[in-house]
Amino acid sequence: ERFRHDYLEVRDLRVVFDGFVAVDGIDLTVTQGDLRFLIGPNGAGKTTVVDAITGLAPATGSARFGGVELVGRASHRTARAGVGRTFQTASVFDELTVLQNLDIAAGASRRPWSMLRRRTDVPEHVEAALDTVGLGHVRDLPAGVLAHGQKQWLEIGMLLVQDARLVLLDEPVAGMSQSEREQTGRLLQRIGEQRTVVVVEHDMEFLRAFASSVTVLHQGSVLSEGSVAQVQADPKVVEVYLGR
Ligand code: ADP
Repeated sequence: ERFRHDYLEVRDLRVVFDGFVAVDGIDLTVTQGDLRFLIGPNGAGKTTVVDAITGLAPATGSARFGGVELVGRASHRTARAGVGRTFQTASVFDELTVLQNLDIAAGASRRPWSMLRRRTDVPEHVEAALDTVGLGHVRDLPAGVLAHGQKQWLEIGMLLVQDARLVLLDEPVAGMSQSEREQTGRLLQRIGEQRTVVVVEHDMEFLRAFASSVTVLHQGSVLSEGSVAQVQADPKVVEVYLGR
């Protein structure tokens, strides 16, 4: 399996904004097949960690994926190293169809295909992504008419056609209905079988249902780490969450 040696290894990662320490030297190891959730109170530094790994926040220390150092790389170069992310607000092109959105995403990677090709020419990896995210039946609809959940799944599909092997998701179920949450959880489990997945999430019910491991951040540091049961039983975590 070509992905077998992929894992994320973060060491002493630090992000400072104008003297304010947002990420205070964290260590994090996430292997392929692990569906890791990153939780913590507002302002804990979760999004900044993802920003640092994807070249969107200035960082020191190390974040290696598949042996490639990501710290100090511009964001388009982290994408080339197989790193993909979503944002809290889905960024798809509303006027373009689902397929065209995937086409543009694929064109940004090493395996471009022309938007002018006939539908029968849709490459296998794009068909596979459509199937994985469950949007085959709406492939020719403009993304603007999709339901909220479907837009998020399209964005995940865009990471798949880019061949992102490290997938970082920022609050993927925010604003979703219960059934959309369940579908998203199953989607993340499928993606996690072959890719390294890190999910920033507030929703504890979603986390209990789908996380295979959890890292709790607090004030820019790792407060606790382990299985859902382990972190829930950790007095430090209880104190931070109940003390809010
Ligand atoms: P979380 O995702 O856990 O809610 P963030 O990573 O968004 O937390 O933010 C961590 C801290 O860093 C917050 O105090 C936030 O105000 C600060 N921060 C985030 N981005 C910037 C920035 N670009 N400039 C200055 N401070 C920032």
